Amino acid sequence: MLTPDKSTASEVLRVEHVQRGFAKSQDDLLVLDDVNLTIGAKEIVGLLGRSGSGKSTLLRIIAGLIQPTGGTVIYEGEPLQGPAEGIAMVFQTFALFPWLTVLENVETGLEALGVKPQERRERALAAIDLIGLDGFENAYPRELSGGMRQRVGFARALVVEPTLLLMDEPFSALDVLTAETLRTDLLDLWIERRLKIKSILIVTHNIEEAVFMCDRILILSSKPGRVVAEIGVPFPHPRNRLHPEFRRLVDDIYARMTSRITAGGLPAGLELGTWLPQVSTNLMAGLVETLAAAPYHGRADLPEIARTQHLEVDDLFPVAEMLQHLGFAEMREGDIWLTPAGKAFAEGDTQERKQMFAGHLVRSVPMVARIRKVLDERPGHRAPRVRFEQELEDSLSDSAAEETLDAVINWGRYAEIFSYDDQAETFSLEDVEG
Ligand code: ADP
Ligand code: MG
Repeated sequence: MLTPDKSTASEVLRVEHVQRGFAKSQDDLLVLDDVNLTIGAKEIVGLLGRSGSGKSTLLRIIAGLIQPTGGTVIYEGEPLQGPAEGIAMVFQTFALFPWLTVLENVETGLEALGVKPQERRERALAAIDLIGLDGFENAYPRELSGGMRQRVGFARALVVEPTLLLMDEPFSALDVLTAETLRTDLLDLWIERRLKIKSILIVTHNIEEAVFMCDRILILSSKPGRVVAEIGVPFPHPRNRLHPEFRRLVDDIYARMTSRITAGGLPAGLELGTWLPQVSTNLMAGLVETLAAAPYHGRADLPEIARTQHLEVDDLFPVAEMLQHLGFAEMREGDIWLTPAGKAFAEGDTQERKQMFAGHLVRSVPMVARIRKVLDERPGHRAPRVRFEQELEDSLSDSAAEETLDAVINWGRYAEIFSYDDQAETFSLEDVEG
């Protein structure tokens, strides 16, 4: 007797061992490495990861817009080769044609598919109606608010009646209220089964958004991007963000995302070619002060800090991570606490803080020590930026090397370890104490 192959019957998409690098040839520049995931029918899957983890890259691979450098994507049982008709994408901000009306903008989604004008119009009007743009058919993009423009973006994706809808941080460019309204409207359409879509894959860096919307959440690690955890969300819709179980799951995901930073308990030490986030010294000092003060007195729950300080994961994690690298804080299981050095920093005056920061910086960030050493050894105590940037480019992409050096310059200047002339792009020891 023939039994239907379950894996193909309920499976819309399968990503197998997908790898993607950009330029250069070294393996350590891989953005995505061995990414595996499946998307079943009738589910909303969330892909959660930090900025730069490769979420958009993965989505563009699934959309057939770019090729993986390794691995395969199987869509409806067949290997994907270029953009598939049944896959549509909603971007963070939609590039609408400014000279076309809302209706015409939505219709462009169908033109490419060769749909006849009459049917095009009917389907575009239906999509516009569905997404709540009724009455705006003849408006031009410039006459619309950001939220309404994003609705046009949704209509343009929905009008093709895709099997799989991909969304790349579709709510993150909108203000909080507009985002929530659009999110809820979309969920309502999904729950009421008014969307002729089999599955949705949404990319986000927002933990609450993922728990609010998704049936399943995949966590993508950074550098390289890899699916490191899968979390089922068992709550029925509509979900209540204040429900204790909702909160517990949000906390749990925070813990998992930070445990990636501190895999094995202790963070790996920084190397000369490690990418560094651009975190201002003000933000670092601010978090240390917040942690030192009441009600935390040196120790806090990360999700609570994020909530009370209105920080998103992408704002909070890099700051917390740098404090950890510098030895001012430690993180484990979703908590962050100040080390004795962190407490001393919080209590210090401006000058004492600078000196402490300088000491920790030279010890923890090899690139800072390297720049200082080169300057100390050169007769004129000067060195061009390009010298260090090239060194970083051995292990980082050009843009990552530039970012890392910018971060190092800001910290080194604050700590008065070296000076840097933006115009001449040159390091020196001018105005720096021996
Ligand atoms: P995310 O969407 O998670 O923020 P992205 O997929 O946009 O991450 O980018 C992941 C990494 O890949 C980043 O370090 C980015 O600089 C790099 N990257 C993305 N696209 C390109 C490209 N076309 N060329 C070179 N590097 C790229
Ligand atoms: Mg992105």
